[in-house]
Amino acid sequence: MSRRDERQPLIKFVDLQGQHDEIRAEIDAAVSAVIDSGQFVLGPEVQAFEREFAEACGTKHAVGTDSGTSALRLALRSLGIGQGHEVITVSLTFWATTAAILEVGAVPVLVDVDSETCNIDVSMIEAAITPRTKAIVPVHLYGRCADMDPILEIAERYGIHVVEDAAQAAGSTYKGRPAGSLGHMACFSFYPAKNLGALGDAGAVVTDDAAFAERLRVLRDHGAPKKYTHETLGYNSRLDEIQAAVLRVKLPYLKQWNERRRSAARLYRQIVEGVDVFPEDDGQNYHLFPVLSPARDGIRRHLSQAGIETGIHYPIPVHLQPAYLHAGLAPMELPHTEQICARTLSLPMHSQLSEWHVKLVADAIREYSELPKAARESLSSA
Ligand SMILES: *Cc1c(COP(=O)(O)O)cnc(C)c1O
Repeated sequence: MSRRDERQPLIKFVDLQGQHDEIRAEIDAAVSAVIDSGQFVLGPEVQAFEREFAEACGTKHAVGTDSGTSALRLALRSLGIGQGHEVITVSLTFWATTAAILEVGAVPVLVDVDSETCNIDVSMIEAAITPRTKAIVPVHLYGRCADMDPILEIAERYGIHVVEDAAQAAGSTYKGRPAGSLGHMACFSFYPAKNLGALGDAGAVVTDDAAFAERLRVLRDHGAPKKYTHETLGYNSRLDEIQAAVLRVKLPYLKQWNERRRSAARLYRQIVEGVDVFPEDDGQNYHLFPVLSPARDGIRRHLSQAGIETGIHYPIPVHLQPAYLHAGLAPMELPHTEQICARTLSLPMHSQLSEWHVKLVADAIREYSELPKAARESLSSA
C-alpha cells in the first residue's frame, strides 16, 4: 500500500476543486463568453446577476461590489454614516465588519455574543445605544442568522438602521425568511471559500429600498451618477463581468450545496463525541461547523497529523486585535467572545464533504480522547 502524501491533507477544510470539477464546463463557457464580449466591468453579466441574486434573497435590489468588505463600507456610507457616529456590532466576527466601520470614520461599539448561538446578545444592545448610534450590524456568524426580530424592534424604537453582515449566510433563513431580506440592507461576500464563492473577490449589497440602491450604485463607481460627473467622494468598488458570470453559474447550485452541508452537519451532530456542538438551527447554511473544547489546540494538532484540516473562527476577537487598539479604542472585556475564541474549532465543512469524511473526522476526535494523558498533554503544548 502506498503511503499517503503528508503534504496533501486527506480531508480538506474547504474543497473548491471538487466543487469546480462538478461544474467546470459551465464555468469555462461562461468565462469564455465574457472574454468574447469584450466587456469586463459593470456589464450585462453584472446586471443579470444582480437581478438573480436579489430574487434569491427576496429583495428588490442587489448592487454588486468587488468584495464583502466594500459592500459593508458602501452600505454604511449610503446611510450617511461617518465621523461622529457609532455603529453597534460584535467582536466575534471577521475583522472586515469592524474595518468597514472604522474606514467610514465611525466608531465600532462592540457587544458580547450569546454563548449558545455565537451571535449578538440582543439583551445587551439597548445599553450600548447613545445619541450618536446610527446603525446595528448583526453578523450571521457561521451562517446562523442573528435573532433579527428583537433587533429590528429595538432599531425601530430608536430610529436607527440595521445592516446585516450576511457574508457567511448566503442561502440561510430566519423564521423562513432569507438572510438578506431581514434588515434595511444586507452585505454579502463572494470570497471563494464562502458558500457562494467567486473565482476571486466579489460581494453585494441587497435592499428593498430603491433610493439606497441608487446611492450604492453611485458610491461604488467613484460617486459618479453620470460618467465623469463626480457628485460625492465614492470608491472604485465595482463588480467585474467574469466574477458575475461565474456567480451566475453557481447561484442555481447554492440550494443543493447548502443541503449537502446540512446533511454533513446532521451526521456530525449524531456521531461526534468528546466536544460540545452548538444547538441545531434549521435555517443555518453551515458555512462553518464549529465545535467547542478546552483541549482545542491538542485536538487540532491530532487531526492535522491524521491528515484532517481544521480552522479557528476566530483565534483573536476584534477587540483584542492590534489594529483595534491602534485605532485608539478603549480596551474592553467580552467574556463570552473570549471564551469562544479560546475553545472553538471549525471542522471540515464544504459542499463536497461525504459521510465517509465526517466519520473519519469523528473517529479522529474520539481517538484523541482515548490517548494517554501524557500524549494529549504533549499535543496541547507542542
Ligand atoms: C468574509 C467576511 C467579510 C468580508 O468579505 P470579503 O469579501 O472577504 O471582503 C465580512 N464579514 C464577515 C463576517 C465575513 O465572513
